[in-house]
Amino acid sequence: MWRVSQKTLNLGILAHVDAGKTTLTERLLYDSGVIDQLGAVDAGTTQTDSMPLERRRGITIKSAVVSFPIGDVAVSLIDTPGHPDFIAEVDRVLNVLDGVVLVISAVEGVQAQTRVLMRSLQRLEIPALLFVNKIDRPGANPEGVLRDIASRLKVTSFAMGCVTSAGTHGASVTASGPDDAEFKTGLTELLAEHSDRLLATYVQTEAGVPYDHLRAELAEQTRRGQVYPVFFGSAISGAGIAQLMAGMAELLATSDGDPDGPLSGSIFKIERGSRAEKIAYVRMFSGTVHVRDRLQFGSGLDDKVTAVAAFERGPAVQRKALSAGQIGMLWGLAEAQIGDQIGETENDAGLQFSPPTLESAVVPCDPRDRNRLRVALGQLAEQDPLINLRQDDKRHEIYVSLYGAVQKEVIQSTLADDFNVAATFRETTMI
Ligand code: GDP
Repeated sequence: MWRVSQKTLNLGILAHVDAGKTTLTERLLYDSGVIDQLGAVDAGTTQTDSMPLERRRGITIKSAVVSFPIGDVAVSLIDTPGHPDFIAEVDRVLNVLDGVVLVISAVEGVQAQTRVLMRSLQRLEIPALLFVNKIDRPGANPEGVLRDIASRLKVTSFAMGCVTSAGTHGASVTASGPDDAEFKTGLTELLAEHSDRLLATYVQTEAGVPYDHLRAELAEQTRRGQVYPVFFGSAISGAGIAQLMAGMAELLATSDGDPDGPLSGSIFKIERGSRAEKIAYVRMFSGTVHVRDRLQFGSGLDDKVTAVAAFERGPAVQRKALSAGQIGMLWGLAEAQIGDQIGETENDAGLQFSPPTLESAVVPCDPRDRNRLRVALGQLAEQDPLINLRQDDKRHEIYVSLYGAVQKEVIQSTLADDFNVAATFRETTMI
């Protein structure tokens, strides 16, 4: 029987807009050997921004999954959108993650959105590493950002390295280690606050706590969301990225979940394939799904799985099965919806962000397109249930719920590009 023998890490990168999430994703894929050419956001050549519109506007709209190895850890990275109009996409992926890298710009520092994201991570008890990016940009102030993290994010954090020549092309990062007495003492005192055992060793032994015990304790407290280790670097120059990657494997990776246990998973994204067939993105928590299995999902539905793909080194590859810990794609579940649970899982943490507050009527430019528009919007609603299609039978109009103007523009372009339907919006009103 097919098995996952390695540790897995289902990772999300969260950040305020422009902090460098997409650039960091590209850098991680490049440094781990999955791609041989580094794409750039500004040139529209990154792996994860694949929608034509994303490339044109240089923003991330839909979550995409890519994977890469760090040593013996298989990382599936779920790129999440940063613009507040797409916060619902972030919400959907949060409850399938093992850990998060929260990116903060060394120039702009902690932003309102960083605080919103941090609060969600704390509420859901999702462990996170903080990555202070753009240390090479003029104006970078790593020390200031550390103070910002303490005062504005109000979490227990700990710097894992020091930056030299901040704000210049030559900015570099030195990882702190066992030879750095100040680092070791600081880390011991911080971790001892949550560990009586560590405190006892610290007080009783003159030589101090052995370094490998400290690191193991740091990993434990990070996974419990008690400490947030802070890494510094530049996604553009590559400085500090090796330390960040080592930190992800050491401090976040898990191999929880029994492949022979009861079936449990969560569908977090729906997509249509090239033949318009439905594809469900699923995170498995326990058990194994095989091709041709009959699967129970949602509220009492069941259907036969016709194909399975898993994410391994870059894009998804066809596989015979998907098991505990993995993220993959399932074909054949025609009625599946975002948020559906597979088997007996209780991992649905529910909606983490407020639902949309705006509504607008969508009207076809050519009245003969009304039916095609309805079908197209129906498919969009499948991928994004929060747009909450509403039909007004008296006025023969279709309404969608919205978070903001950028989302409106995206829906309009998607209708034109993917469905060949020209449509406009009437004025937006509060729900
Ligand atoms: P996202 O919106 O968080 O995905 O951010 P992007 O990856 O699109 O980056 C936003 C802008 O910041 C782009 O112009 C990037 O080229 C730039 N950028 C990203 N990372 C770095 C970095 O480490 N150093 C510098 N100097 N610029 C960066």
